[in-house]
Amino acid sequence: MQPPIYLDHHSTTPIDERVLAAMLPYLTERFGNPASNSHIYGWEAEAAVTQAREMIATAIGAEPREIIFTSGATEANNLAIKGCAEANMSRGRHIVTVCTEHNAVLDPCRYLESLGFEVTYLGVDRHGLLNLEHLVSSLRPETILVSVMAANNEIGVLQPISEIGQICHDRGVYFHTDAAQAIGKIPLNVGEQALDLMSLTAHKLYGPKGIGALYVRRKHPRVAIAPQLHGGGHERGLRSGTLYPPQIVGMAEALMIGVAELSREADRLSTLRSRLWQAIEPLGGVTLNGHPHQRLAGNLNVSFAGLHGDQLLRALQPVVAVSSGSACTSATATPSHVLQAIGRSDELARASLRFGLGRWTTIEEIDTVAAQINEVVPKLRHSYHH
Ligand SMILES: *Cc1c(COP(=O)(O)O)cnc(C)c1O
Repeated sequence: MQPPIYLDHHSTTPIDERVLAAMLPYLTERFGNPASNSHIYGWEAEAAVTQAREMIATAIGAEPREIIFTSGATEANNLAIKGCAEANMSRGRHIVTVCTEHNAVLDPCRYLESLGFEVTYLGVDRHGLLNLEHLVSSLRPETILVSVMAANNEIGVLQPISEIGQICHDRGVYFHTDAAQAIGKIPLNVGEQALDLMSLTAHKLYGPKGIGALYVRRKHPRVAIAPQLHGGGHERGLRSGTLYPPQIVGMAEALMIGVAELSREADRLSTLRSRLWQAIEPLGGVTLNGHPHQRLAGNLNVSFAGLHGDQLLRALQPVVAVSSGSACTSATATPSHVLQAIGRSDELARASLRFGLGRWTTIEEIDTVAAQINEVVPKLRHSYHH
C-alpha cells in the first residue's frame, strides 16, 4: 500500500536534502561545542554558528547580534512575550493580541494575566483579518506590547503586519510577530515592517525540528527583554544553554533556500491550491475559510456542510494526510478557536479540513486527493441524512 499523500505542511515539513547535506558534518566529525574556545573543535562549531546567524539575519534584514537561538517558535514566543512583559512592567502592564493567535502566544498571555497583567484579545472579521481601527483604539498609555501573527496556521490569513508595525512604532509600543508559518513563504523584513520581535522556526520550512530563533531589535528603539532560561549566559545572556550547531546550520540553510525560492514557489503552490479548490467547490455546501487571496499560497481550509467531520477525516486517511480545521474532531471536543472567531458554527468548524501544500506536492497528488474528496463527500452526506 502506498503511504498517504502528505498535505499537512502547516504541521511540519520533511527536511530538504540540501538542508540535510549542510547539517551532516556537524552531526559527525565537526561535533564541537561552539562555546569551547581552546581548540579547533570548538572553533569550527563556533564558526558554523556565526555563519548561520549571519545568514538568518540577512534573510530578514536584521543584524547577527539581533538573532537569539531557541528551540522553536513556542520558546521564541514565550521569550518575546513574557520576557518583554517582565522587562517593561514599570512602563505598563497591558498587552494586545488577537483571538486567532496560536496557543504558543495565547497561553503566555493568559499566564501573564494570572500575574496581574491585562490582555486585550482583539476579534477578527469573517476572513480572519484584524481591523486596524480596533487595534488603534485598544492601545493605552500603559500598553507595552502588541503581538499579531504574520500568517495564521489554520486558515493561512496574512495579517497586515507592515501597517501594524507602523501603528506600534508611532506610539512607542513594541510589536511582536509570530512568523512560524510566514518565514520563507512571504517577504519579511524587520526594518520595512517595523518589527521589534519576531519568532521563527525551522521545521515548517523544510528544516529540522527543535530549532528556532527570536529576532530582538537592538537598534534604536532597542527592545528590553528578560531571559526566561538562566544559566551559562549564552546568546547575550538572553537564552542560556549549549547551542546545537547541526540544527542551527540546518535552519540557516532552510531559510536561505526558502527566501531564494519564495516567489516561484508561491506561484506554483497557489496554482495547485486553486486547482484543488476548483475541484472541491462544485460539490456544493463547502465554505472556504480565510481570506480569498490574502493568504499563504499553500493553505486551503474548507468546511463541509452535512457530514460528520471525524468520518470525513477517516474516509480520507488512506489517501491523504491532512489535519482537521479544529484541534480535535470528536463531537464533544472544543472546535477550533480560529474557525469560531471567523463565525463558523461548532458543527461546521468540526467538519473542516486544512490542506497544507508543500515543496514536493504535485499536480497528480492534488488530482488524486480531489477525486477522493469527490467520491467520499456525497456518500457521507447521504448517510448523514438517513
Ligand atoms: C508551529 C507553530 C508554532 C510552534 O512552533 P514550534 O517551533 O513547533 O514550537 C507557533 N506558532 C505558529 C503560528 C505555528 O504554526
